[in-house]
Amino acid sequence: MTDYLSTGSLPEEYRQLARTVRDFAQQVVAPVSAKHDADHSFPYEVVAGMADMGLFGLPFPEEFGGMGGDYFALCLALEELGKVDQSVAITLEAGVSLGAMPIYRFGNDDQRAEWLPQLTSGQALAGFGLTEPDAGSDAGGTRTTAVEDGDSWVINGSKQFITNSGTDITRLVTVTAVTGNNGGKKEISTILVPTSTPGFVAEPAYNKVGWNASDTHPLSFTDVRVPRENLLGERGRGYANFLRILDEGRIAIAALAVGAAQGCVDESVRYAGERQAFGQAIGRNQAIAFKIARMEARAHTARTAYYDAAALMLAGKPFKKQASIAKMVASEAAMDNARDATQIFGGNGFMNEYVVSRHYRDSKILEIGEGTTEVQLMLIARELGL
Ligand SMILES: Cc1cc2nc3c(=O)[nH]c(=O)nc-3n(C[C@H](O)[C@H](O)[C@H](O)COP(=O)(O)OP(=O)(O)OC[C@H]3O[C@@H](n4cnc5c(N)ncnc54)[C@H](O)[C@@H]3O)c2cc1C
Repeated sequence: MTDYLSTGSLPEEYRQLARTVRDFAQQVVAPVSAKHDADHSFPYEVVAGMADMGLFGLPFPEEFGGMGGDYFALCLALEELGKVDQSVAITLEAGVSLGAMPIYRFGNDDQRAEWLPQLTSGQALAGFGLTEPDAGSDAGGTRTTAVEDGDSWVINGSKQFITNSGTDITRLVTVTAVTGNNGGKKEISTILVPTSTPGFVAEPAYNKVGWNASDTHPLSFTDVRVPRENLLGERGRGYANFLRILDEGRIAIAALAVGAAQGCVDESVRYAGERQAFGQAIGRNQAIAFKIARMEARAHTARTAYYDAAALMLAGKPFKKQASIAKMVASEAAMDNARDATQIFGGNGFMNEYVVSRHYRDSKILEIGEGTTEVQLMLIARELGL
């Protein structure tokens, strides 16, 4: 399994998928990226295009409206989109790996039948409601509560920074909530909250540094009443289940970050060959060429790290440490490459319409979301027995 996921010898079906998404990214996404970034507008037409291509259903079985592919296929798509537009890539990543995947992994037959076809077709989006104002890296500090009342759960509390939670096509947010107390320890469960439920409010969107075309909101819950059947997975397993989703999600974020890192390389190679200074292309200077060579090395090593983590995951082997390593090195590669690419572009690199300047603003969150770099280091150290 690990052999065939070597960076140089992908099977034809994966290469074909990557080519198709690359063409889509160039022809459909790239022309509208700068505008959506400047307007902070959600790219509905791009999302509809991704839906038509089946990208929201990539890793799900056909019986749920999926494409019957695997998680690595999703990663390849994210890498291609991440080269061009991180907002679009994170919309897909969060839609699939944080929105639909918890229902596929932990939902019962009824929940899967109700929600998966809408989500895998890309007709609807679901959010992943874990982070709260006082519970981020320490997500077990959840304060949102869900209390049983007759046939219902009554939810009160708030979440923050939730991706895809307030678009016109968002239909659901899966939230962690405290449902009881086990010997002084919080019992945390996961509950499906349709966004149409009275008391659910997606507050105004954040004004972010980057990922401007991605949808992110604080959420509030005031006596939000949902049926008891909306419990997702086993009662009290909500936090553990979400951590499993995040382990996988880190491989997907790593793939997106590799795309960003590689996008910076590709743009820099092109620009360094065209831009003239002191009578020659700036790429003729070893200072520039070495910078780009180092950027390529970062993108390549990060790619091998996420391929490795994905191969372990697909083989059913433990992959927690490798996923954290991949997420950490790939997000750092994206940030470092974005900084170097911006330098290579000189003054143009400081102009918002250039792809590299967008990567410069967008890449920082890669070192923060789905577990900060410090959290990845904690997880890696823990796997080493420290
Ligand atoms: C654009 C965006 C989209 C997001 N989307 C989602 C989403 O869809 N769903 C969701 O649930 N969340 C989402 N998040 C939240 C994100 O996962 C959190 O912001 C992240 O996990 C960090 O949590 P925090 O912001 O509370 O930082 P904190 O936990 O307050 O951390 C602050 C700093 O302290 C460091 N730190 C904390 N504890 C330790 C420690 N023990 N040792 C060393 N350093 C430590 C952290 O690494 C960080 O540098 C999103 C965030 C953003 C910005």
